[in-house]
Amino acid sequence: MTGPRFSFTLHATDGKARTGTIAMQRGEIRTPAFMPVGTAATVKAMKPEAVRGTGADIILGNTYHLMLRPGAERVARLGGLHQFMNWPRPILTDSGGYQVMSLSELRKLTEQGVEFRSHLDGSKHMITPERSMEIQRLLGSDIVMAFDECPRADRPRDEIAASMELSMRWAKRSREGFDSGQEHASGAALFGIQQGALHEDLRRISAEKLTDIGFDGYAVGGLAVGEGQEAMFGVLDYAPDMLPKDRPRYLMGVGKPDDLVGAVERGIDMFDCVLPTRSGRNGQAFTWNGPLNLRNARFAEDTGPLDDRCQCPVCTTYSRAYIHHLVKSGEMLGAMLVTEHNLSFYQALMQGMRDAIAGGRFASFASDFRRDYVHRGA
Ligand SMILES: [Zn+2]
Repeated sequence: MTGPRFSFTLHATDGKARTGTIAMQRGEIRTPAFMPVGTAATVKAMKPEAVRGTGADIILGNTYHLMLRPGAERVARLGGLHQFMNWPRPILTDSGGYQVMSLSELRKLTEQGVEFRSHLDGSKHMITPERSMEIQRLLGSDIVMAFDECPRADRPRDEIAASMELSMRWAKRSREGFDSGQEHASGAALFGIQQGALHEDLRRISAEKLTDIGFDGYAVGGLAVGEGQEAMFGVLDYAPDMLPKDRPRYLMGVGKPDDLVGAVERGIDMFDCVLPTRSGRNGQAFTWNGPLNLRNARFAEDTGPLDDRCQCPVCTTYSRAYIHHLVKSGEMLGAMLVTEHNLSFYQALMQGMRDAIAGGRFASFASDFRRDYVHRGA
């Protein structure tokens, strides 16, 4: 592999919006970037080569799922996640912390880590910051996330503060654990995660502690957990500014197309979300004119494409009427086609934002987007 371990070059800024390139050994990542979610070593309903065909530079893998099945040690024996799933480009893995809290049973949280039972077979496991770093190393992750705790944003302030402090101690242990795997660390990057929910002072303390430890990039964590877009944008009005300007800023688990535009406007560089793939399997297509529910009878004889501005292989080949029929019939191909279109649309949206920032016309891009993107409750 060639190329730098990790470098981030900003090409242009427009207001707070930024466009740049992250260079890593397995390839470049154009920012603002959207990372399709490949939970169980697959971006659901998509071959990896088709994921690349949508324009994705990087995908996300989930530590929690992969440690339980097929197991991190097994993936390592099979040559690592890239070789296992046939995705040669960069992969970001989450730390497992968020999904342990949201998916597993019988969790016991201590200073050491989290003990839990698998949602698959009830088996007992423990994740610590050190074990999370080891799992992500075994997977061969390019961008490793620090192990953190993500409490609900509506918990009392003292709980949020204590949880943030714990996450900062875990961030330090994550840094040490990552650095101890020298061979992997020489070709991979480690991101810290800011916590503090909706509290500006806690966000500031968290940002200072993370910056003191030092990371390649910084995530704004603890959002998109049910607080709503207005509250999320409220935090994004100040939280990205607390993080180093010369490092990428990653908003975890976001989001809807209008969330992405509003977050880029506030200085975010990277995103991941299951929405385009999950919605694709549910027959919901994202378009420049808003979301469409392909189950709706009004598409039964609509010979047009999902989106007449979209150049993806689905829109240039298949009609709304055909996809409506597939979705109504529960055919796998319906899920595949809507997923491919949705991922293509998300990448086209990111490309549109990158071009607009580079051209110094992000404000007009955003206002055109908001004019055309209509929520029909679909
Ligand atoms: Zn399309």
